[in-house]
Amino acid sequence: KTDMAERLAIRARLAKDPPVVHALDEVTLEIARGEVVGLVGESGCGKSTLGRVVAGMLPATEGAVLRDGKDIARLKGAEARAMRLATQIIFQDPMSSLNPRKKVAEIIGEAPRLHGIVPRRDTAALVGQLMGLVGLDPAMANRYPHQFSGGQRQRIGIARALAVNPDFLVCDESIAALDVSIQAQVINLLVRLRQELSLTLLFISHDLSVVRYISDRVVIMYLGRIVESAPTAQIFDAARHPYTQALLEEIPRIDRRGHRFSTVKGEIPSPVNPPSGCHFHPRCPFAIDICRTTRPTLRPAQPGHMVACHLGDGTGQPAINNKKPTQ
Ligand code: SF4
Ligand code: MG
Repeated sequence: KTDMAERLAIRARLAKDPPVVHALDEVTLEIARGEVVGLVGESGCGKSTLGRVVAGMLPATEGAVLRDGKDIARLKGAEARAMRLATQIIFQDPMSSLNPRKKVAEIIGEAPRLHGIVPRRDTAALVGQLMGLVGLDPAMANRYPHQFSGGQRQRIGIARALAVNPDFLVCDESIAALDVSIQAQVINLLVRLRQELSLTLLFISHDLSVVRYISDRVVIMYLGRIVESAPTAQIFDAARHPYTQALLEEIPRIDRRGHRFSTVKGEIPSPVNPPSGCHFHPRCPFAIDICRTTRPTLRPAQPGHMVACHLGDGTGQPAINNKKPTQ
């Protein structure tokens, strides 16, 4: 029984010393130059946090982010600035990240002007070129964001990111707010840009079907941990982790309803106090005793295919499908 005073004391203590949330837990992620990695998981699994850490927007409390072998947290001066420009993030809602009082020409031209990427007199030409690149009519440069559709606004956001010549884009749910047909158009645009500009992409989505056509490799996260990583075809044809398999089973439902899937059976547990052992065990139909006590390590099931599951044991056998569910 807690009386009011006690409750207030607890609240004060929590405010002073909030519970530590391990948003990311021993995550190792390698992205090769020119590669497109799709990062997938339910909301709250830590994928946005990972995207921000990788992009250098959020410091890693432990470990390091290496870019071309250099720890990005230790870069200084011109090198740090160059790294920041070379990595750009594109967010979900272009409306909230585009200043409504600025014309598109200013929005796209601001960063290259500030950073001296082109001489001031060439900014307008650069803006026109970028708008053309993302499939917008340069004649619309003097309009305001609200005069564009959602898909066009996302193109403006992409043009703004490209204006500083990045070679690495982190797309965080960049198309989640758009209609399915518009999503496909923006994905096609990113596929083309990736080729034309030799971009490296980390494409974050809660929706496995969305990353399929753009990613070379898919990485699946669950409660702050990477549970599976494999070439895209391998994920769709021969997923080994029960969580990935559950996500795959949800896909037909997304396509029919045209919007985001309900979560896999059961609630996603709190990241403040994640389940012991394998974080997925309370929701996993294949869980065995060891799953409740011991964390499965991420290890190769096949070359290039990493799985963190006590049943995906690296023997090359589809171990999961051979075991009977225990419940
Ligand atoms: Fe399921 Fe156990 Fe594999 Fe976790 S380790 S996914 S609980 S079988
Ligand atoms: Mg997110």
